[in-house]
Amino acid sequence: MNKQTLKDIDVRNKKVLVRCDFNVPLDNDGNITDDIRIVSSLPTINYLLKNGASVILISHLGRPKGEPNPKYSLLPVSKKLCELLGKKVIFEETDEVVNDKVKEDADKMNPGDVMLLQNTRFRKEETKNGDKLAMELSSLGDIFVNDAFGTAHRAHSSNVGVSTYLPSAVGFLVEKEIEIMGNALANPKRPLTAILGGAKVSDKIAVIENLLNIADNILIGGGMAYTFIKAQGYEIGKSMLEKDKVDLAKKLINKAIEKNVKLYLPIDTVVAKEFKNETEFYIVESDSIPIDFMGLDIGEKTIDLYCDVIRNSKTIIWNGPLGVFEMDNFAKGTNSIANCIASNEKAISIIGGGDSAAAVEKIGIGDKITHISTGGGASLEFLEGQILPGIDAVSNKIRRLI
Ligand code: AMP
Repeated sequence: MNKQTLKDIDVRNKKVLVRCDFNVPLDNDGNITDDIRIVSSLPTINYLLKNGASVILISHLGRPKGEPNPKYSLLPVSKKLCELLGKKVIFEETDEVVNDKVKEDADKMNPGDVMLLQNTRFRKEETKNGDKLAMELSSLGDIFVNDAFGTAHRAHSSNVGVSTYLPSAVGFLVEKEIEIMGNALANPKRPLTAILGGAKVSDKIAVIENLLNIADNILIGGGMAYTFIKAQGYEIGKSMLEKDKVDLAKKLINKAIEKNVKLYLPIDTVVAKEFKNETEFYIVESDSIPIDFMGLDIGEKTIDLYCDVIRNSKTIIWNGPLGVFEMDNFAKGTNSIANCIASNEKAISIIGGGDSAAAVEKIGIGDKITHISTGGGASLEFLEGQILPGIDAVSNKIRRLI
């Protein structure tokens, strides 16, 4: 990797500003329901503290739309951090995020101290990569560390903006994300199989196009599969369809043939009368979907076929559920594929955040997966082959001439 990492910089006696992804889910009473994102940031924070730095943590939470909103305060995160780090965390609760008091407190910090600022999205400039906020944030520290992969696909003041004012490095979490996913795409152990599901083809076009240059097999499932089935000339009843993408689906099928990539579509499908769990459902061949039914999951034969491909793969990348996994009756395809991936322990398996990560965690097989990305949108853009602005903005490694 050509970006500076934590190990490339001297942090002793420095004030290090760390962009974390503390965008945690909260219940109605403001309790954190899943602290994995906070736990994932601990290696970077602990490394900095152990190596004599003081640490100023910044993050967004939710979508307060540029206005202060107590519902999105980072107060619950500061309490959780105290608990997990086993030490005091100074929480700067001001809605301004940075003001004179915050600056004074930052100036007084000693090595080993930890400070957390308020939600950066309380400031309008944040999501516009506004310069004022970037300058204010950078005035607090000597070095910037970006450890928030979840927002790396966005150019905001708290990641891209600050990087323009301070020497910077990626944290351990971001380093791991780009090393594992980068290697899987640039130098994969073959066969490389990509499994793509989710609701819409339109969200995955760029990923499919990029993977057609890289993968050996692409397995399609989820709502987007029906636009492909339609493109093959079959009727799909009331299944999800993006009419304006049928021609594109045809082109992608042909491109796969040209490029010698095996593009698999579901051979059978679970169809249901209505879009709800308690409804009549059964399995049909994909070319025989009844007119008044909708496809909500891949069928048994497809599960067997896809699992066979997965078993014979050395690199597996998965993004998007294969059916409406939120409903128990239509979760079997997604769960079975997750189990197949987990049981191929010799392969490098990468789950691209979001719903597929949630499915893997729900069935408790996360520890059998090589890497579960912490960023749904960011990992998708990475798979599209895009340069992520949050990572691009980090200082390059200094090349030493020998
Ligand atoms: P995405 O955000 O694009 O990854 O899509 C995830 C959503 O796709 C989940 O909420 C699933 O319930 C939904 N989904 C998966 N399969 C289907 C399907 N066959 N019909 C409708 N929605 C689906």
